[in-house]
Amino acid sequence: MAVNKVKGTYDVLPTESKRWQYLEAKIHDLMKRYNFKEIRTPIFEYSEVFHRQSENSDMVNKETYDFLDRANRKITLRPEGTAGIIRSYVEHKLYVSQEVEKVYSIGPNFRYERPQKGRYRQFYQLNVEAIGASNPFLDAEIITLAYQLIQTLGLKEVQVKVNSLGDRESRNAYQTALYDYLTPYREQLSDDSKIRLDKNPLRILDSKIQSDQDIVLNAPTPIDYLNDFSKKYYQTVLDALRAADVTVVENPRLVRGLDYYSHTVFEIEASIPSFGAQNVLGGGGSYEHLIAELGGPNLGGIGFGFGLERLLYALEAEGLDQIPDFQLDVFVLALDKEVKALLPKILFDLRSADLKVDANYTNKGLKGQLKQALKHNSRYLLFLGHDELAKEAVGIKDTKTEFQEEVKLKNLVPYLKEKLGK
Ligand code: AMP
Repeated sequence: MAVNKVKGTYDVLPTESKRWQYLEAKIHDLMKRYNFKEIRTPIFEYSEVFHRQSENSDMVNKETYDFLDRANRKITLRPEGTAGIIRSYVEHKLYVSQEVEKVYSIGPNFRYERPQKGRYRQFYQLNVEAIGASNPFLDAEIITLAYQLIQTLGLKEVQVKVNSLGDRESRNAYQTALYDYLTPYREQLSDDSKIRLDKNPLRILDSKIQSDQDIVLNAPTPIDYLNDFSKKYYQTVLDALRAADVTVVENPRLVRGLDYYSHTVFEIEASIPSFGAQNVLGGGGSYEHLIAELGGPNLGGIGFGFGLERLLYALEAEGLDQIPDFQLDVFVLALDKEVKALLPKILFDLRSADLKVDANYTNKGLKGQLKQALKHNSRYLLFLGHDELAKEAVGIKDTKTEFQEEVKLKNLVPYLKEKLGK
């Protein structure tokens, strides 16, 4: 019986992986420019890392993959990157350096969501965190990094939206005001939003349901409830971004999907027609209490997540995904049985000389082998034939100029290295 992939997952086939490698290489390069180091944490954690008392987002309440391991421990596949990274930061006491720990990670996350284009049950995220300080200039730097990633990739139809939720006092004042505004509409709210009203009314601002959206249209916004400290903090972030020529759009209704955010929140949004809610490529914000909640000191941080599938869709939509095919240096055709025995040594020698090399392993004749060789997009073809080998030589053909000549076996490596400029 043939077995299919799990619903909501996908395969990156060999023909598609070059787009992923291109994107990841751009990311690694940009991270070096900002002095961010890679961190790799497990894809599963003890459930309490994600299921914290203060976290009531739909993502954590309804979408996690939770299971008991064979020793009955509660385990969760990570639905997002930040909590696991903070767990690691605290566990390894990375805070003792008293410096901001700048880290990033690329890897799969898991959410039990309704699959559609740009929404999967396993998806890849770039996660970036600057941990150990609450500082408006650091917030501005992180938003700048997200902006610069978009620029580096050449994306034009993408906007960075920012807002502030303020500190805990401001956020609580806003939450109360929003609750008071929404309470008269309780019966008209969707079932999910009725529950959110008591647990976390901010989530209702994010509702995808039209009738909810109509109700929140005139709701107060977090900006109206920022205390003086939070106002100043936010203004400093905006000024710093302006000074760096980073174009952002203020969006007073932006709240983001997680409960641990305070002060700055931001989202990166593309405008691909037909992509709908999936146009949100990434987002993040600063957190003041998450590190303490996970058993660490009272320090803040800021981070964001970018969905790699969505970034790839955005590149495709803007025609920026024409990544050149991988090119082999040499493709070897062994033309009869006797010479095949020589293949392993020749391949090993060429590869040891740093050349990218492959050979044909089928039993096809010359014509069939040639046809396959051309598909491999190789700069040179190497013919191992009976007649040439009698002279301790091979045939080499330059696929660009079509020029072919005989080269002595002992000169093969220097000949090819010179031709390839290596
Ligand atoms: P979030 O952690 O929900 O703020 O998501 C950050 C980014 O991760 C989103 O903007 C998406 O690009 C991506 N993302 C989140 N959930 C999914 C999903 N189920 N499938 C694909 N990408 C996702």
